[in-house]
Amino acid sequence: MAGKKTINHCCVCGRSEKEVPFLLQGIDGFVCSECVEMMHGYLQENGVLPGAAPSP
Ligand SMILES: [Zn+2]
Repeated sequence: MAGKKTINHCCVCGRSEKEVPFLLQGIDGFVCSECVEMMHGYLQENGVLPGAAPSP
């Protein structure tokens, strides 16, 4: 068995799993929790997701 550990990177911001709180695995890559949080806020701001009131 190979003992070499692969360091995964966020495919959005490029930071490694050591630089972010959490890395979520997708089909062909990873996204870090900070990017997910950023995207979530972006989707809420644009009315795609509920939770935030749209800007007047
Ligand atoms: Zn990221």
